[in-house]
Amino acid sequence: MKEYGLYINGGWVKASSGKTFESKNPANGETLAIFSEGTREDVVKAIEVARKTFPKWRGFPPPKRGEILLRAAAIMRQRKDELGVLVTQEMGKVIAEGKGDVQEAIDFLEYIAGEGRRLLGETTPSELPDKICFTLRQPIGVVGCITPWNFPTAVPCWKLGAALISGNTIVYKPATLTPFCAARLVEILEEAGLPPGVLNMVTGPASIVGEEIVQNPLIRAVSFTGSVEAGVDIYSKASRMLKRVGLELGGKNPQIIMQDANLELAVEGVLFGAFGTAGQRCTATSRLIVQEKVYGEVKERLLSRTQAREVGDPLDPKVDVGPLASKEQEEKVLKYIAIGKEEGANLLYGGMKLPGGKYDRGFFSAPTIFEARHGMRITKEEIFGPVLSLMKVKDFEEAISVANDVPYGLSSSIYTSNVNLAFRAMQNLEAGVTYINAPTIGAEVHLPFGGVKNTGNGTREAGTEAIHEFTEVKSVFVDYSGRLQKAQITE
Ligand code: NAP
Repeated sequence: MKEYGLYINGGWVKASSGKTFESKNPANGETLAIFSEGTREDVVKAIEVARKTFPKWRGFPPPKRGEILLRAAAIMRQRKDELGVLVTQEMGKVIAEGKGDVQEAIDFLEYIAGEGRRLLGETTPSELPDKICFTLRQPIGVVGCITPWNFPTAVPCWKLGAALISGNTIVYKPATLTPFCAARLVEILEEAGLPPGVLNMVTGPASIVGEEIVQNPLIRAVSFTGSVEAGVDIYSKASRMLKRVGLELGGKNPQIIMQDANLELAVEGVLFGAFGTAGQRCTATSRLIVQEKVYGEVKERLLSRTQAREVGDPLDPKVDVGPLASKEQEEKVLKYIAIGKEEGANLLYGGMKLPGGKYDRGFFSAPTIFEARHGMRITKEEIFGPVLSLMKVKDFEEAISVANDVPYGLSSSIYTSNVNLAFRAMQNLEAGVTYINAPTIGAEVHLPFGGVKNTGNGTREAGTEAIHEFTEVKSVFVDYSGRLQKAQITE
């Protein structure tokens, strides 16, 4: 059985606790590898290494940093199948999505490598003669990256890629459920030529490793993707030290179907959006808001298509829905199903842990559809599982009002053939991402990604915004007049 230590200063070392934990396959409970349980002292060691390495990495030309990221992307491309299988084994998403997770990581590394030749600032004239002004983007220093388990390759690459190209050194804490994908990523970056000490990874519990990253004053920025509860905790602690904090949090994403929509396409979209990755995507569709005239037809089509979904071994390419990622996830999903029933929502399909045979050793839950009333808890709280609330609305105005009446604002979608409604939806849906005639999932790496309201604190990952999270802006004034010139002083 492969055993990994902590990755500090370019080498794998045992945790000072001497303790280990296992990463297990949620489809069958098999142990995949063993990992070290880091302590506060280990994190402090990693931070110290990152601090010492920072001046050197900062001086490493950004295009050369980009070459390392491109090499990492090339290695991942070569090993995409093997890495995709690992994502599926460790996290449970079906194999096509496991490979998609890896592809998203490759796409992002290739994209962000190009920033090494940009890192653009602004050049402006001065209000004084013989003087010019411009801005520089500079690294922040040692940054902490804390990632979730649901995209165990893509999300870390979004953070690490952007932090590295910007010239920061890193202490990285992956989710305790998916350290194997994280360790493979670290190995690939090392193989691609990343110098020792630039990236340091400490596995271990949130309450120890995560907490030290957030509280240690030498960490100048924290980039976090995960739940709102953890995000609030991290933001409040880190802000007391005036750290830069980037938060990408949960969602309760709506898909609207108007009466003029292509219904076949719209139903295909919601199946992918709601049940892809067993609903464990921050952008998963958890609410389907349908105009009353086509409600009955949508419901019928949705039910018959959902019944045909195959749930099972995620490595089997014929399977549509894999297991939930952990026992905890399963309990949370089942708890919300019970809440839905108690609230009087009409259970149309699913609503249970799948019993027997091939399901016995894993966390398999049936795709679930509730006919619900807006305002029920299942229509407002993030479940993070394959549970969809179907709701009827009168018209476009009501659809937008229901869509917006949740504390989250990550992704949103509308299916309509009316161009006016499509543009009004683009303007009025309260979300960081809006899709027209496409499901709520499917981000592309060259566009900014993030949400409004409780989904975050205004930062964006990916796209040109990605480097903003990891750089400081410096304004530079160059006076070539040969005399003292005074801005604003006229007398
Ligand atoms: P989580 O429980 O918040 O954990 C995320 C990561 O943070 C893990 O590495 C976790 O460590 C660590 N952590 C948890 N609490 C912490 C704290 N108080 N201080 C420091 N670190 C802490 O979330 P999850 O269950 O892994 O992921 C699911 C959530 O992520 C969902 O809400 C989903 O919507 C959100 N998500 C958002 C996006 C987005 O871009 N908006 C993308 C993906 C997922 P341990 O693993 O050791 O507990």
